[in-house]
Amino acid sequence: MTDTAPLRLFNSLTRSVETFEPITPGEARVYSCGPTVYNYAHLGNLRAYVFTDTLRRALLWKGYDVTHIINITDVGHLTSDADAGDDKMEAAARAQAKSIWDIAAHYTDAFKGNIAALNIIAPSEWTVATDYVPQMIAFATTIADRHCYEIDSGLYFDVSTVPNYGRLARSKDDEGEGRIDPVAGKRNPQDFAIWRKSAPGENRQMEWDSPWGKGAPGWHLECSVMSHANLGHPFDIHTGGIDHREIHHPNEIAQNQAFCACVPTDSGAQADFTGARWWMHNNFLVDRSGKMSKSKGGFTTLFSLIDAGVHPLAYRLLCLSAHYRSELEFSGEIVGAALTRLKRLVMTVETVKKAADGGPADAIAHPRLVQLLEDFGAALSDDLNTPTALTLLDEALGVKKALAAERLAMVTRMDAAFGLNLLGISRTDLRIRPKDAAITEAEIEAELDRRQAARAEKDFAASDAIRDALIAKGVEVMDGDPLRWEWAIRLDQ
Ligand code: AMP
Ligand code: ZN
Repeated sequence: MTDTAPLRLFNSLTRSVETFEPITPGEARVYSCGPTVYNYAHLGNLRAYVFTDTLRRALLWKGYDVTHIINITDVGHLTSDADAGDDKMEAAARAQAKSIWDIAAHYTDAFKGNIAALNIIAPSEWTVATDYVPQMIAFATTIADRHCYEIDSGLYFDVSTVPNYGRLARSKDDEGEGRIDPVAGKRNPQDFAIWRKSAPGENRQMEWDSPWGKGAPGWHLECSVMSHANLGHPFDIHTGGIDHREIHHPNEIAQNQAFCACVPTDSGAQADFTGARWWMHNNFLVDRSGKMSKSKGGFTTLFSLIDAGVHPLAYRLLCLSAHYRSELEFSGEIVGAALTRLKRLVMTVETVKKAADGGPADAIAHPRLVQLLEDFGAALSDDLNTPTALTLLDEALGVKKALAAERLAMVTRMDAAFGLNLLGISRTDLRIRPKDAAITEAEIEAELDRRQAARAEKDFAASDAIRDALIAKGVEVMDGDPLRWEWAIRLDQ
């Protein structure tokens, strides 16, 4: 093993890159805030899970045993992250005239389908918020006396009861406070609901009895409880999109601090205990109109990309081509370029595979490849620098003097971190039929056979006419390429 670089990860708590030291040697416990299942995930949401998967794969690459939890939020998330507005799940159920459970099941399935299509390793466990309501009530009961107060709308957390509230958001510098909506009776603007009481006459589909009346848990409580229940406190890494750095995660931290102060544990509870050692955040996927968001509507889903003929792994490659802490721009053109890059990669890997008849070599000995693998480990270890790591893969494939079997072994090693399934997919797999295609694959092949015959007879007028007719139907004709043809991808964005 040439990989010697220590894994260094950016910690939003300190706003610096720190050397990763797990709580239990050899193990990494990771919690990722999951989707609120009231709508399809958009590509921006999915960037968050490509990021956590990259983190997970890098931890595996470095030899850690990883326990990874992603939650499904099926209750409690209001239309504003700061406890104002409607419950997103109840609102979606009303709008679609469906039961909330059906809404949750439908969008959970769709989300898991997206995760699989992006070759994201399924978490060790999907935790579903509504399965944890009794534990949430127990957690809230534990901290209620010392840290919470009751008003008409529910049980609220008093952020002045924990030291250093908001250190993660640095809200005073970042103007995060300005985004918090006022709720009558709150003691501090940043106080947030732990338990929301059903309003008199409110017809909620989901509500539970609690010491504070019938109602539903607050969204922030869910993640504290599910992470604690499955990973213990403290655990190693908590992830989410950068929006969560401002409200959701500071609130989770405040709850964790409170819980720890009320129930000191053997693990050395401290007043400034945050629950997780590392808090990591991916930056936004943006389009021309700004951050992609569900509430803004008009967002792009993985389904719509596939409908246009773009393979999901092209989106994964696009995510990997930018550092997770940089904003990433999305447009049809940009994802189209990522698809082209993926096709080239797959084509090169296919050639290497053919040359390395017996499969990948057991060991990598060529000095240039050894060096590139070490550089690759160093790039991954440098806060998951996937853009650099990708260029090292290109370089490794280009070391023509090395045995093909060794180059293939490089692809195997590197793709374990990228998750692009480079050894499993072929160019034909990447040729996805656009939903609105006006011609079938069999018809295209038949037309191309006719064209070949016309060319053999030097009937170039007929051959050109066939090609033009195919182009008009959205088919790109590729003379001299064994694949023969491709779909021409048209994206509106
Ligand atoms: P939600 O389903 O809204 O709770 O969001 C799921 C995840 O997606 C969270 O980690 C968010 O922070 C993240 N997220 C939301 N919008 C974007 C975006 N435009 N780019 C990247 N991540 C996002
Ligand atoms: Zn969360």
